[in-house]
Amino acid sequence: MRKIVDRIRCDGSLSIVLVMDCDDICEHCPDKVGDLCRHGDSVAKKDDSVAKFLELPHEGETTAGELMTLAAEKIKGLTDVGEVCGECYWSSICNRILEKKRSGR
Ligand code: SF4
Repeated sequence: MRKIVDRIRCDGSLSIVLVMDCDDICEHCPDKVGDLCRHGDSVAKKDDSVAKFLELPHEGETTAGELMTLAAEKIKGLTDVGEVCGECYWSSICNRILEKKRSGR
């Protein structure tokens, strides 16, 4: 995952394919069984919510640069990631990062 995040951050021209199934990020996840995720229904709901929040289609193609610009714009008005992700074990961590970004720290 770290490699993928680094590539997205470093190469704005990188092609990003939007899918609603397992993708490159899932490659080493223990919850990936074959081509499927053990938490498929839950993840599909989150994927759908994020696509709606970013006003992106469920399937398509964009670039890392366009995606980063869009995400930065959309999260400006967001105060709680739970509004997008729903209940999530990691939401307190994401909210701390969100607050740091909003305050310019
Ligand atoms: S939990 Fe599922 S969707 Fe998330 S990384 Fe693992 S396999 Fe992919």
